[in-house]
Amino acid sequence: RSKMVKICCVGAGYVGGPTMAVIALKCPAVEVVVVDISVARITAWNSEQLPIYEPGLDGVVKHCRGRNLFSSTDIEKHIARADIIFVSVNTPTKTRGLGAGKAADLTYWENAARMIADVAKADKIVVEKSTVPVKTAEAIEKILIHNSRGVNFQILSNPEFLAEGTAIKDLFNPDRVLIGGRETPEGKKAVQALKQVYANWVPEDRIITTNLWSAELSKLAANAFLAQRISSVNAISALCEATGADVAEVAYAIGKDTRIGPRFLSASVGFGGSCFQKDILNLVYICECHGLPEVANYWKDVIKINDYQKSRFVNRVVSSMFNTVSEKKIAVLGFAFKKDTGDTRETPAIDVCKGLLGDKAKVCIYDPQVTEEQIQRDLALNKFDWDHPVHLQPMSATEVKPVAVTRDAYEATKGRTASASSPSGTSSRSWTTSGSTRACRSRRSCSTAATWWIRRR
Ligand code: NAD
Repeated sequence: RSKMVKICCVGAGYVGGPTMAVIALKCPAVEVVVVDISVARITAWNSEQLPIYEPGLDGVVKHCRGRNLFSSTDIEKHIARADIIFVSVNTPTKTRGLGAGKAADLTYWENAARMIADVAKADKIVVEKSTVPVKTAEAIEKILIHNSRGVNFQILSNPEFLAEGTAIKDLFNPDRVLIGGRETPEGKKAVQALKQVYANWVPEDRIITTNLWSAELSKLAANAFLAQRISSVNAISALCEATGADVAEVAYAIGKDTRIGPRFLSASVGFGGSCFQKDILNLVYICECHGLPEVANYWKDVIKINDYQKSRFVNRVVSSMFNTVSEKKIAVLGFAFKKDTGDTRETPAIDVCKGLLGDKAKVCIYDPQVTEEQIQRDLALNKFDWDHPVHLQPMSATEVKPVAVTRDAYEATKGRTASASSPSGTSSRSWTTSGSTRACRSRRSCSTAATWWIRRR
């Protein structure tokens, strides 16, 4: 009998947690340990209240936990024992120094790599699961090789394409699994070893193998294309509002073209989440570093339109309420960046609430998946700080809370002048509607980003 393959995943977040739970479920002969520096996160993974909300995740974890799925803060021990090490740590946008506001901050990745080099006593396959700039594997390889003591490392790029809110569904039935590796005999062997893990449930023709750089860049490119579609339809929504066209009708009509397709065409207040903006900024930075300013500017505009859409929305709300929301009560239904998640990273709700608060509105927020502390903290943080350890620190009791938060949707709307809701909503057209009462009519769900509606009294 061949020995049980041991997998360790560094980083027990939105990607590491669900991905490893599904590997454990689908591969009973593989032992999976997820490790993290955050004691709170690991404690939660081992408790009844998992640290993240994802439909279907609870069942998968409960099925495998204690069987072949474990969570631990003993990072060194489990790295030392593993054959395959996934690294799924955060790679946020740099807030200072070279490339601040654009480049990916690889501090967390580098720390993980140094730790792997320190404790590895036998050969390892190290898998980039985090989204990283193209060519990161080269840097990681250097760190590992320079710090290792005769141990061989093979680096693979295996970016994750799951979407929050449908993570388990996406992992069970992925459009594709992408594995990039070195084109050497050892590299090819490592690719095969990882391929065998996925082959437990993913059809072989959906497992794509490429060179390292293609795999790394494909993830950035995929997110850039997805975000670009949202900005495209949002840009059209502005023109619709100016001309009397209905963006929902336009999106439906163009989506019928099989070359365009119907998905990711709902106009909204803009995309959010931890990935799209960060990965495009990163792509822009890489293009600039390679002397490709035209390409960089092309992708930069995807973010510009997104920011424009968010501020356009706030302006619409304010102007439709006689040019001021000062002291007016506004309910916000839904705060996470889209439906079926509690994740608030880069949610458009932050920009919208800040915009309304800037005009002294009285905002009351309801979101059953997000704690009050998280909401208050998000509204108090500076741009890009949210994905750094500062966001894990509790707020002090004396800090001013910018908004009211309620656990009851009806409570939020009581006595309100207006309400804005996510995650299912309507086209931007209804934002402008004036009159005594107006609600969104089309409640089509929007899978791309939080969308909003306004009700006026
Ligand atoms: P996350 O913040 O939820 O999880 C990262 C975890 O890594 C945190 O719990 C953190 O404590 C831990 N960590 C950081 N440094 C560590 C270290 N040295 N040792 C051990 N643990 C460490 O982030 P996430 O959303 O899971 O994203 C992880 C990566 O995957 C990012 O690069 C992201 O771009 C990418 N990604 C995310 C998604 C998504 O939908 N969230 C989808 C695809 C890819």
